Amino acid sequence: MSEEKCIFCLIAKGEIPCAKVYEDDSVLAFLDLSPVHPGHTLVIPKEHYKDMLHVPCELGTAVFSALKKVGAAVMGATGASGFNVMQNNGLSAGQTMFHIHWHIIPRFDGDGLGVWEQGKYPDAAAMQDMAAKVASYLEK
Ligand code: 5GP
Ligand code: ZN
Repeated sequence: MSEEKCIFCLIAKGEIPCAKVYEDDSVLAFLDLSPVHPGHTLVIPKEHYKDMLHVPCELGTAVFSALKKVGAAVMGATGASGFNVMQNNGLSAGQTMFHIHWHIIPRFDGDGLGVWEQGKYPDAAAMQDMAAKVASYLEK
């Protein structure tokens, strides 16, 4: 997806409307069009980066700060007792908009939403092997 055709770039430039909740020099937050719960908000960098592997670490402070501020505001506005921060990378992970964004999803006691099912490693050795394999890729 080119930046010219990227919907989130057009939203960041004000060329497509959004229900804005927050912005600063580098970050914009607006309501998701199809909310998990009302108040579900997306936080995006104004610049186009497709996913976590491409976004510069220097943006981290601005994003983290926005997630904290907007997360608290979403809880206040919706009466939620918690919120999920989610960020999908790649089609298989559920990413549909290839301009990086973080979801802030308000959560309510007993709302019945499962995030995902978790399993088990066959044994402790298999878990250690996987840790060693991941660590080896950090060195590549
Ligand atoms: P993803 O699946 O990529 O993590 O999330 C993309 C999100 O963007 C979805 O939750 C979807 O509802 C939201 N979305 C897609 N198009 C638009 C749009 O034009 N405006 C807004 N506000 N949200 C959008
Ligand atoms: Zn974009």
